[in-house]
Amino acid sequence: MNILVINSGSSSLKYQLIDMEGESVTASGVIERIGEEMGSITQRSHPDKWPDAKSEEKRPVLNHDAAMRLMVEKLTGEEWGVIGSLSDIDAIGHRVVQGGESFAAPALVDADVVETIRANIPLAPLHAANLVGIEAALELFPGTPNVTVFDTEFHQTIPAKAHLYPIPYELYEEHRIRKYGFHGTSHKYVARAAAEFLNKPLEDTDLITVHLGNGCSMAAVKNGRCADTTMGLTPLAGLMMGTRCGDVDPAIFPFIARTEKLCVNEVDEMLNKKSGLLGICGMNDMRDIHTARAKGDERAQLAFEMFAYRVKSFIGSYLAVLGRADAVVFTAGIGENDPEVRALACQGLEGLGIRISGERNGKRCAKGRCISADDSPVQVLVIPTNEELEIARATKALVAG
Ligand code: ADP
Repeated sequence: MNILVINSGSSSLKYQLIDMEGESVTASGVIERIGEEMGSITQRSHPDKWPDAKSEEKRPVLNHDAAMRLMVEKLTGEEWGVIGSLSDIDAIGHRVVQGGESFAAPALVDADVVETIRANIPLAPLHAANLVGIEAALELFPGTPNVTVFDTEFHQTIPAKAHLYPIPYELYEEHRIRKYGFHGTSHKYVARAAAEFLNKPLEDTDLITVHLGNGCSMAAVKNGRCADTTMGLTPLAGLMMGTRCGDVDPAIFPFIARTEKLCVNEVDEMLNKKSGLLGICGMNDMRDIHTARAKGDERAQLAFEMFAYRVKSFIGSYLAVLGRADAVVFTAGIGENDPEVRALACQGLEGLGIRISGERNGKRCAKGRCISADDSPVQVLVIPTNEELEIARATKALVAG
């Protein structure tokens, strides 16, 4: 069974074609700057087998329809021969950022699903392009089942006491303003993988999952179900991120607007794109921050400490929410690759049952592993995330079932 996973952004289209037999990626691609003067197209055949082989092109890509046609040309073209024709694609799985309260599980796309996704656009206007991708696929692949998998769906089990904001209740009733949370596909994937690693049924497993990439979020998982998460109505809330501020006193927003004489959109942009690690030290890639720290850059050191401090604060908070935990699970770019962040975030938590092993933490390995000491009551795991595979599995389950 071949499943095509599509992640359609405002000016980009990312895809992976996954052969579900061995869950291997047979092709992948990133088409960027769609609608701009010059588009950038990078595509790979069998990226796991040949990580350095890729085809790169620069040419204008008018819209998402055109981007999908470029993808299809490559997939069916003689050069790659990944698939013979479009009918070799058995199903398409789409990443959709905001499912609102409408979707607590993946959905098989029909006219109702499309309209419900459209109705949720006001909650995440920047992600309206998810729907553009779905509509382009419906047109280009008539007859192929399309499935939507939502970033928010894993978090729909968060109870009202944790997902409502203490603001006038009418705002929830009228505009559905509440915590939705994001990165749910990643939290769900690593929660299941962690339970497998621990050899426990997921429904008996309590976890704190820590996704640290460009965007960062954490989830408290009780008996395999999400009990709380750090992101909110939008992905701006919670942890400090590459360029997003995370939790700040909400009164800072009007304060900046008044003192800096900025409009709402400008403050929004500042908090989303010029804050976080970038706002503190001018860099948003943790690798650059470590290089600068090593040269004595004090702001880089401060950014690193602030970043880890937030993670630690939420580990403590979520231990209280859960009452106990089997494991803290680190994932995504920083979570998987950065022993220094993991060490600092867990430093001093021995009293809460978390004891990292310096030696295990320092070792590099692409597979899931335990980095806590043998006598640590709460295990600390590093589990590589794979959101595309999670989408493909969900798509297969829905189409097959
Ligand atoms: P995205 O959220 O875009 O999916 P990733 O999960 O790929 O991002 O994470 C990207 C981030 O991971 C980079 O910005 C960088 O800060 C961090 N990163 C990647 N590799 C390393 C590494 N070896 N050490 C520290 N940080 C890393």
